[in-house]
Amino acid sequence: TNAGSEPEERVLEAALRPRNLDDFVGQSRVRQQLSLVLEAAKIRERTADHVLLSGPPGLGKTTLSMIIAAEMNAPLRISSGPAIQHAGDLAAILSSLTEGEVLFLDEIHRMSRPAEEMLYMAMEDFRVDIVVGKGAGATAIPLELPPFTLVGATTRAGLLPGPLRDRFGFTGHLEFYVVKELELVLRRSAMMLDLSVTSAAFTEIAGRSRGTPRIANRLLRRVRDWALVHKLEEIDHKAAAAALDMYEVDARGLDRLDRGVLEALCTKFGGGPVGLSTLAIAVGEETETVETVAEPYLVREGLMGRTPRGRIAMPGAWEHLGLAMPKDAIF
Ligand code: ADP
Repeated sequence: TNAGSEPEERVLEAALRPRNLDDFVGQSRVRQQLSLVLEAAKIRERTADHVLLSGPPGLGKTTLSMIIAAEMNAPLRISSGPAIQHAGDLAAILSSLTEGEVLFLDEIHRMSRPAEEMLYMAMEDFRVDIVVGKGAGATAIPLELPPFTLVGATTRAGLLPGPLRDRFGFTGHLEFYVVKELELVLRRSAMMLDLSVTSAAFTEIAGRSRGTPRIANRLLRRVRDWALVHKLEEIDHKAAAAALDMYEVDARGLDRLDRGVLEALCTKFGGGPVGLSTLAIAVGEETETVETVAEPYLVREGLMGRTPRGRIAMPGAWEHLGLAMPKDAIF
């Protein structure tokens, strides 16, 4: 999963991952549904159905795949769509799976077409055809696979072609977390990092974490650094707020990218409507990053709207940026 952080951070992130469904905070619906799928599989003594997890980055998709493997007492193999460019890459992974193994494919929507087609058959019939040779002399050698559970992760279920989506027995949509839930994530992390943090500081950090546990944990580490340098024994509200202001995470949790997108929308395009790719170019980012990382949160916060003609700034956007809304804005 694209943590986008240095090795030390990734080690910490791994250490902070909950190991079972009970320690997994929030997402009660997905947790219940998943728990039922796994229980039923155990009773039937079968491998669990394939599971698709969708939602913005950092909400716990990788963590859930690890929990699925742990609950099923099965080994876990991790790969990702971008790592599978040829059908052969996928064949190599599939043919080395052991019975009951859980295969986690992150960013499954970014797999190449031929690999995707091979995956259909593998998911449905636990079989692949390995093509040997080229052109008229090519032959397909069928290869039986042991039953396995595929856990696919995607930032948006809509990015997946229908036939692939249909082959998952269960789709779990992960939602942004509310502040109370993020406080729980932070409390657990603070305990593991041996930090002393006041309740008000937890609330402050949680409120700036844009509904995302990965961001909550990352902000906690930044606040920890701040406390270390300022020789604070306890992290209180004031310290948390000061540290996060310094890292340009505003009171509503918007970071540089979010604010950049919003500012471009308001100042360069008069509040829109403007196409997503044009907006992405204006902030120097990939369209997919803007669509899957910044947009979902901005839309949820009521700062940005999606219309058939493009993205628009909502009245709250101008207010949040401290700008006057022009008279000819779409609102
Ligand atoms: P994704 O795969 O969706 O990008 P991850 O599973 O890698 O997200 O989660 C990112 C980090 O957030 C992990 O370090 C994990 O500790 C933390 N995390 C995610 N979801 C939860 C949760 N529900 N409870 C506690 N921690 C969580």
